[in-house]
Amino acid sequence: MSCAFCKILSGLAPADIIYRDDRVTAFRDIHPIAPTHILIIPNRHIASVNDLEASDESLVGHMLMLAKELAAQEQVAEKGYRLMINTGLDGGQTVHHLHIHLIAGKLARFLVG
Ligand code: 5GP
Ligand code: ZN
Repeated sequence: MSCAFCKILSGLAPADIIYRDDRVTAFRDIHPIAPTHILIIPNRHIASVNDLEASDESLVGHMLMLAKELAAQEQVAEKGYRLMINTGLDGGQTVHHLHIHLIAGKLARFLVG
């Protein structure tokens, strides 16, 4: 298994997991760029947005709704936060397992990731 996030999902690699259900998992980024930096991933390996299929529509919606809930849980909803999905080389994607970055805290609006 070469995917770093699949290793986390299977328990082969450690992570600070803050939410998990049958479809998605959320854990803290190992190199946070802001006080709150959470990654939300599907439990099934999907390499990127480019690999989404029509049948993944509700999964993607579920990921976004979880981002909203975690922002509230982290108490950053009111002040604001940034959701980011990097895709491919020019998009700056380094881990090829779909993920939403939830980034919040001081000056988060100036971060480009
Ligand atoms: P990308 O550049 O692909 O959008 O973001 C990948 C993110 O995953 C980076 O912010 C990086 O710090 C994080 N990351 C990479 N490997 C690991 C890991 O093994 N554990 C955790 N928690 N985060 C990781
Ligand atoms: Zn994976």
